[in-house]
Amino acid sequence: MLTPAMTGDSRQLVSLDAAKPAEESLRPLFGLDANALAARMVAAGEPAWRGKQLVEAIYHQRLTELSGITTLPKSLRIRLTAEGWEVGRPRIVQVFQSVDGTERYLVRGRDAQTVETVWMPEGDDGESGDETDLESPTTPGAPGLDFETRESTNPTRPVPNHPQNLGAPSIPRSSAEWVGNPEPQPVLNQTVEENKSKPWNRATICVSSQVGCAVNCQFCLTAKLGFQRNLDAGEIAGQVVAVLDRHQVEVGRDRVNLVFMGMGEPFLNYDNFRAAVRLLVEEVGISPRRMTASTSGIVPGIERFAQEPAAVRPKLAISLNAPNDTIRGEIMPINRKWPIEAVMDAVGLVQLRPRERITFEYVLLAGVTDQPQHAAEVARLVRRTGLPAKVNLIAWNPGPGIAYTMPQPAAVEAFRHTLAAEGIPAYVRKPRGRDIFAACGQLKRTVEG
Ligand code: SAH
Ligand code: SF4
Repeated sequence: MLTPAMTGDSRQLVSLDAAKPAEESLRPLFGLDANALAARMVAAGEPAWRGKQLVEAIYHQRLTELSGITTLPKSLRIRLTAEGWEVGRPRIVQVFQSVDGTERYLVRGRDAQTVETVWMPEGDDGESGDETDLESPTTPGAPGLDFETRESTNPTRPVPNHPQNLGAPSIPRSSAEWVGNPEPQPVLNQTVEENKSKPWNRATICVSSQVGCAVNCQFCLTAKLGFQRNLDAGEIAGQVVAVLDRHQVEVGRDRVNLVFMGMGEPFLNYDNFRAAVRLLVEEVGISPRRMTASTSGIVPGIERFAQEPAAVRPKLAISLNAPNDTIRGEIMPINRKWPIEAVMDAVGLVQLRPRERITFEYVLLAGVTDQPQHAAEVARLVRRTGLPAKVNLIAWNPGPGIAYTMPQPAAVEAFRHTLAAEGIPAYVRKPRGRDIFAACGQLKRTVEG
């Protein structure tokens, strides 16, 4: 693992305002949609159109202080504040920077607990092969490739500043090697400089939906936290807006994808997840075709998801992770409740958009799920569903206290090759930010907020 001392980075390490006492956010406006904001204004004796001014201020201009919303009369701002209202957007309280450009944030919502959100410049190739991702952001719905996408789907393209290109020290391959490794250290929370040309062509934000997780997948570090609580809609959408703000992302111009693949199981917090997606689509302005929700296979959640109108439905990723019920039941206890066939039946209810595919995520655990016969079984399984699908292979990311081993690169490539030869599009996800515990399945607060 890298620390600034090891990389020769002399920036002083600071703890941000994480040390401040946690003030409960009593009446946050952030998280209310346009209708609710209009209703709030009417309740305050104001015209409903003031709700639109709040939408503009909170979700477009990304203002974080009521006092700064100068489109509202000063007297109204003072009155709302006196009543306990505030913008109340979740705050980034700590930043960890990877040598590969990835940033991991601890984000504080309505109480002292923090969740993790990850910014991956150039993404991790998780979107590769999904044609719904190809439209130009300035011309929604337009078919065809643009330059960045054509580049990014090239599997040989190096990730800028990727550890492989920087000669970064190798990372532990199994939990035993984590012993004695230092925790990653936060860095100064400098805001990205305004007007500086952006050092990324596209980016992916990985969003959390719960504090901890109850699902208890045996290979996942978040599982070690157990389930703490659900995030509300404002806390889920707020992670995104806080990160957009930090990187001065221009929604509608810049290419940014959202993946609900952070801490927690979005389909076990369905109402809040759904409300957050609606806020992000309708108020923030991000297309649902740029969003992917990942689930471990919560069947009732998938069934509800299948009912969502296409205008507010993200793409779907299923964490398959094993070739059959026997192995899946061992590494994902949830499989005993909803076995593979039940999950596939529910997935079949989703009315896919033209060119949309279901993503099956598959974590490769050395000796457990990465064998050639497993690849052939996965190919048969995916083909049997009859769904337009692709497989995203993820080499297991190690973490302390988890007794698995990373697969050999040759095993990953052989697995991908077998799937491809069987006609199943398969992509290997680039591990991003492993050195700061930001990679898939590594999200667990390493510093308490
Ligand atoms: N709870 C949801 C979304 C968050 S997990 C789900 O399970 O789908 C996001 C992805 O990370 C899942 O596909 C999961 O299988 C994968 N994952 C979990 N732990 C991992 C690890 N240690 N290494 C690599 N991928 C991991
Ligand atoms: Fe929860 Fe997903 Fe981790 Fe499983 S892989 S424990 S569902 S966060």
